[in-house]
Amino acid sequence: MKIQLNFFESQRTTFNEQIDLTVQSLKAYGDQYDHWVFAWSGGKDSTTLVTLIIYLIESGQIQAPKRITVLFADTRLEIPPLFFSAMQIKRQLEQRGIEVHTVMAEMDDRFMVYLLGRGVPPPSNTFRWCTPQIKVEPMIKKLHEIHRETGNKFLLLTGVRQGESAVRDGRIAMSCGKDGAECGQGWFQVTAPESICDKLAPLLHWRVCSIWDWLKIFAPMNRHGSWNTQLLADVYGGEEAEEINARTGCIGCPLASKDKALEVVVKIPEYLYLQPLLRLKPIYRELRNPSRRKRKTDWQYKKDGTLSKNQNRMGPITMESRAWALQEILAIQNDINSKAPSESQKVYLINSEEEARIRELWRLNTWPDGWDGTEKRADEPFIQRHSDGSITPELFLTESDLSV
Ligand code: SF4
Repeated sequence: MKIQLNFFESQRTTFNEQIDLTVQSLKAYGDQYDHWVFAWSGGKDSTTLVTLIIYLIESGQIQAPKRITVLFADTRLEIPPLFFSAMQIKRQLEQRGIEVHTVMAEMDDRFMVYLLGRGVPPPSNTFRWCTPQIKVEPMIKKLHEIHRETGNKFLLLTGVRQGESAVRDGRIAMSCGKDGAECGQGWFQVTAPESICDKLAPLLHWRVCSIWDWLKIFAPMNRHGSWNTQLLADVYGGEEAEEINARTGCIGCPLASKDKALEVVVKIPEYLYLQPLLRLKPIYRELRNPSRRKRKTDWQYKKDGTLSKNQNRMGPITMESRAWALQEILAIQNDINSKAPSESQKVYLINSEEEARIRELWRLNTWPDGWDGTEKRADEPFIQRHSDGSITPELFLTESDLSV
């Protein structure tokens, strides 16, 4: 939670008033920077941010900085039509002479490689490794590169949006659960180092219905830039988008209770071929089960030699289950691609380099730090150990097991 540049202290506003506040915030803060950098993930909020601000510049409502850079965060897990839509908008930006860079995690940090190659269990609300690793850290690395290259502090623009009430105290939360906000934007806002950039969230006060109005109605109009944002709006439910209020994120996001956006997409006749993607979430769910994972069954100590609170913890995915999951995910991919209408509409959840790296990590017997694969499978009987040093023996274990 951080105090940020706060321009928004309004009561309930209309769509035009929301745009007006955005303009005012950019006039007040943007003019102080020669270089604006956009953190864009292809989701609804950051796409609104990029297309709206370029429109405001082109229509003369705000002054362009000397340089604009758009950084597209490619997680490799975008819902395919969303990715196609982002690629169309990327082309439109490039046609305008705007510099767009794709930012992606290093091979070993990518979602599927980390999950299946290293065996780290799917992210959860208590162990959310994905957002920093596949979205935020690659972006921060790129921001440092930009700063090294220019030597000047720049303005980082994010699509963080919290609606009006949360905005009034000027605090930014990293949460993407509220009001269908876009995963990652709050993290960019909070994590990007102040030594290299200042941050502004010009849509902070926008309501989700205004986001849809921009994407569905205004952005595609000639006079607003003819942006190809309609597809993005359709993906999130078209006319029903406001009710669905889906948060933008990865396919099968293990942190979301339902794949709302994907469920909408696979009902659109053009995207029926993507239905196998609905099988991804159950695979992540299965990989959380004890039968798929390892467990620490001996005493666990902290660095100072005292007993750790976290005894008997479950850990990585077993090698057998990693192999099972890889096979299942490749089968999803094959099922989709055998019906894809064209080469460019094929989907590679795991591409050939990633598959090769996953298999190589298996050959190297790779486990997360602190694990080596000799641990018991988590569904095997074990002695319950407690951080006070006591134990609860398992009924069917023998004395010799107790010495483990
Ligand atoms: S959308 Fe879900 S899986 Fe993707 S980075 Fe965000 S929390 Fe992680």
